[in-house]
Amino acid sequence: MPPTVERLRQAGLKATGPRVMLLSALEQDRRHPTAEQLYESLQVHHPSLSLSTVYQTLDTFIRKGLCRRVSDAGDRLRVDGTPQDHDHAVCRACGSIFDIDRTVFPRPLPPSHLPNGLSVTGLRVEYDVICATCQSAGQAAILADTIQARKPTSRSTMPRKRKAVSKTL
Ligand SMILES: [Zn+2]
Ligand SMILES: [Zn+2]
Repeated sequence: MPPTVERLRQAGLKATGPRVMLLSALEQDRRHPTAEQLYESLQVHHPSLSLSTVYQTLDTFIRKGLCRRVSDAGDRLRVDGTPQDHDHAVCRACGSIFDIDRTVFPRPLPPSHLPNGLSVTGLRVEYDVICATCQSAGQAAILADTIQARKPTSRSTMPRKRKAVSKTL
């Protein structure tokens, strides 16, 4: 049995054509793609695939733990198909997401409890970075100006305009 079919079955899902197609695409795609990006790259060879099928299938994958939803500046659905546990480094200038191997850069151990009766189930690290491309493009300087102009408490309300581009290291 192909490994993709096996993964679907283990997640309790029937291995339908679109599911197999999308899961194998996700396993290859290291961009942390949006639903639209996946749709566009698959559409070339599978013209009958619809964007709503892509959305529905990704939604099912997220619920079954086959992929992880990644936060995106817009309301777009953006997913991570890398099954291994890993952290992210997000370029604050262009929004590219890079996978960080935890065996190379380990995370701190989380406490088991936090105030207000919060029981900790996990810890994710997101590194704020400026990627090599943006550094060479000189955008780091622009960003530094933006950070200085920003109040320290305004993180949640800061304008988070990012492009959908993403690449791997
Ligand atoms: Zn960048
Ligand atoms: Zn990732």
